[in-house]
Amino acid sequence: MSDYQAIVIGAGPGGYPCAIRLGQLGIKTLCIEKEYWGGVCLNVGCIPSKALINASETFQKMQKADEMGFSVSGDISVDMGKLQTWKQSVVDKLTGGVRTLLKANKVEMATGTATLIDGNTVEIEAPDGKKQKVTADHIVIATGSTPIQIPGFAYADAPILDSTGALALTELPKRMVVIGGGYIGLEMAGVYSRLGTEVTVVEMMDQLLPGFDPDVVKVLARRVKKDGVKVLLKTKANGWEKTDDGIVVNVENDKDGKQAIPADYCLVTVGRRPNTKGFGAEKLGLEMDGPFFKVDKQMRTNVPSVFAIGDIVGNPMLAHKATHEGEVVAEVIAGHNVQFDARTIPAVVFTEPEVATAGLTEPECKEQGLNYKAGKVPFAAIGKAIANNATEGFVKVLIDADTKLILGVTIVGHHASDIISEAALAIEMYAEALDVGLTIHPHPTLGESVMEAAKAALGEAVHVVNR
Ligand code: FAD
Repeated sequence: MSDYQAIVIGAGPGGYPCAIRLGQLGIKTLCIEKEYWGGVCLNVGCIPSKALINASETFQKMQKADEMGFSVSGDISVDMGKLQTWKQSVVDKLTGGVRTLLKANKVEMATGTATLIDGNTVEIEAPDGKKQKVTADHIVIATGSTPIQIPGFAYADAPILDSTGALALTELPKRMVVIGGGYIGLEMAGVYSRLGTEVTVVEMMDQLLPGFDPDVVKVLARRVKKDGVKVLLKTKANGWEKTDDGIVVNVENDKDGKQAIPADYCLVTVGRRPNTKGFGAEKLGLEMDGPFFKVDKQMRTNVPSVFAIGDIVGNPMLAHKATHEGEVVAEVIAGHNVQFDARTIPAVVFTEPEVATAGLTEPECKEQGLNYKAGKVPFAAIGKAIANNATEGFVKVLIDADTKLILGVTIVGHHASDIISEAALAIEMYAEALDVGLTIHPHPTLGESVMEAAKAALGEAVHVVNR
């Protein structure tokens, strides 16, 4: 007889929803977390970053309020200490909620570091060093990921920050270099540049957000530049040195050769590494798929009693993918015949303007040689966007030219994150362009842009000229 029917290792957006669902399904469950109830996402990822993004956008809006007839007397300034306290209150509300929900669903919780002993046994080392072995019929590994470190930039050195460090600054830096123009780097570059820091983004590839539709990146790059962020593309960061008033970050590219960029901090955001080592998984002989654990469609590893979910099982490393996988595993353990079969995992970049995608992008349609049509509607044609004073960007709906099935939707614009779910639902339900085009959307809303772009793909848009 095992102590538990299921043990979940890690309480991030993969692990804690998995444990909650297991509890709901009547499975006796233990959830073990060593550091962050709520995982990276709630503590040092999605949530604190969005709180700071929101705060910095509020700051920028206050500075521009004059345009709408508001006068704000005196200097508008930011108290970073107070901002951090507010951000932490947001985090605490959510992480407290995670523990309450686990408890309410009868999930037992253990704070400590878990080590796998075999396919049914886990050793827990509590913060006071006490060790205890527990057994379960099923083990779910949800240990997440860690920022990648690059040579010459050790996070142990105070001016070198990973994303966690950048989210916790209690003073506003005058100058910051961000290495890596992916989504985390650009989100943090946006926060600090809006608050007044001089930011330089250094990216190895030839565009920001490598892999995204260049059409979208063009809109974002224009805004990033307008907000005063300097971007160096096709540029390699070699190292850094201390100076009398901070540091210099040494970079190099073909166009300008070697440059030393003065800064107070250097944030390194070049990707995240799945946490697959150091907790006994090697001993179990779990099969790997590159840096990730190899799992089947039910998220089961090659050891039948062991499942893996979230950042440790593959890209995209996103919270909502982890949660969905966690819920699938809970159902599988409860004996339901389910598997991970989502048609799309939407992705959002919380820059200003935001970028959001679901399904295929236009470059992917081209690469796959698909016979597709694109309907594109600029936000400048959408009444709500004009009223919001945020007309940058567009919605692009891609459809199969023969069947008219929606293949993908890409959005760059204010609140893209709140509009993309309709596209994900449409793709998940095999909707045709007309299903979205004939759905009455409330007016005036940003959602109308998706309806209009679906019609544009059919040559039937009424608020833009059909091409
Ligand atoms: P994690 O959230 O990493 O959780 C794993 C947990 O396991 C951790 O709490 C860890 O302490 C624990 N753990 C590890 N090893 C052990 C062990 N041996 N014993 C016990 N516990 C252990 N994603 C989005 O979808 N949207 C966003 O806007 C977004 N923004 C982000 C912003 C930043 C700055 C960062 C860093 C990430 C962001 N992400 C975002 C990514 C998102 O945070 C991850 O995809 C998500 O947290 C992965 O969930 P997970 O459950 O796999 O792992």
